Amino acid sequence: MLREVSQKRVLPFLGQITRGLSASALPEQVQYDPQTSSAPTPQPAPFSYVPPGRNHLFVPGPVNIHERVLRAMHVPGQNHRDPWFAQFFKDCLEDSKLMYGTKEATPFIFSGTGTGGWEAALCNTLSPGDKVVCFRYGLFSHLWIDMMQRLGLDVQVVDRPWGEGANEDMLEDILRKDTEKKIKAVAVVHNETTTGVTSDIAGCRKAMDAANHPALLLVDGVSSIGALEFRMDEWRVDVAVTGSQKALSLPTGLAFVAASPKALEAMKSAKLKRVYYDFADMLRTNPSGNVPYTPSLAMLYGMRESIKMLREEGMENVFARHHRLGEGARRAVEGWGLKLLCKNPRWRSDSLTVVEVPEGVDSNKIVKTAYAKYDLSLGIGLAQINGKVFRIGHLGNMNELMLVSALAGAEMAMIDAGVPIKPGSGVGKAIEYWHQTSSVIKTRESLVQ
Ligand code: PLP
Repeated sequence: MLREVSQKRVLPFLGQITRGLSASALPEQVQYDPQTSSAPTPQPAPFSYVPPGRNHLFVPGPVNIHERVLRAMHVPGQNHRDPWFAQFFKDCLEDSKLMYGTKEATPFIFSGTGTGGWEAALCNTLSPGDKVVCFRYGLFSHLWIDMMQRLGLDVQVVDRPWGEGANEDMLEDILRKDTEKKIKAVAVVHNETTTGVTSDIAGCRKAMDAANHPALLLVDGVSSIGALEFRMDEWRVDVAVTGSQKALSLPTGLAFVAASPKALEAMKSAKLKRVYYDFADMLRTNPSGNVPYTPSLAMLYGMRESIKMLREEGMENVFARHHRLGEGARRAVEGWGLKLLCKNPRWRSDSLTVVEVPEGVDSNKIVKTAYAKYDLSLGIGLAQINGKVFRIGHLGNMNELMLVSALAGAEMAMIDAGVPIKPGSGVGKAIEYWHQTSSVIKTRESLVQ
């Protein structure tokens, strides 16, 4: 009964959010749609309403920004031509190597997003008509392939079911058959943010080696780098790409790219047109601490603080923390009696968890209710799995108690949407796991001895 009442109050309002109106604009501007609800027309509100407490942000990027990073970014306008900038920017580039796990690669920082990073990876290493092999198992791999095709590359698309990762045997087979070595690059989305699947890049490299194939290995690490194990040098990744709003826990606006010596060699003969994302312009200016165009200083300050935090924690601890968070979320899903979209445990992502909802339930309803009732932002199911799954992001600036709020909110929103779940069934499983596996914060060990 209670549930029915609350749904009646909440859901008409939700329909309006999907039409892209901002929450503060809702009371004045929303037009009541009689086809979707029987609720009264919202009346103009005398003030714009911000709910108390904080929004619980659990989409797989943009992610929560740490106070330290926010403070570091709070700077007045400055001149990047002043003498201090050169050393500062050289340090930014050097610092960024930490997240890729590289000593050998050359890092680049562009103003842009992950999509710009994709373009940089392709345009700087390939020529029109070059053959590229790419797995497609979600929206982001699909979009990268679309970019390749629009750039005039000849893409051999390897379609896999959504929920699976890069199949190394298939890759090896394709490369073995390419006896004339026409394939110039293998492109892999490491963590497919649509499906919560992490492919095995070391395994892909092994397949390339087994086929004795010289293709470049281009990796989209947009929702993995800085959160999940990434070893650019060891795996001999040629170009790695990420974006600031993911594991680095910054606002959106920087595209990070790193290129191996082999990729820089390929650049010399690569003929795809490039302007803004041309490595050559960066290589001319970066070594002396210069940039070819105006840098976003606030973002660079934030990035340095964010990398400093990763360094303080230690990358191995960062990977372990993400694993703990991912495993807790997976146990919650099990406790709810639901299934993950990713069926094979080897591919389950520690950056995000993608939950299948039972037949007959619309996952959009869960996501909307979570936002409208509990101020919790979950990720919707994208493209062909819209309505069938929802996504819980747990990458970047995140800890167990933050994530427990998302699990609790998801649990309540699912109950609101009619999923037969016992309150506490998922949260209970997660906390059972975390209280056994979480470690004492390293500077606080003496308090618990
Ligand atoms: N690749 C992956 C795996 C992503 O998750 C995203 C965005 O979510 C992108 C690429 C595109 O990045 P952006 O939206 O920053 O351009």
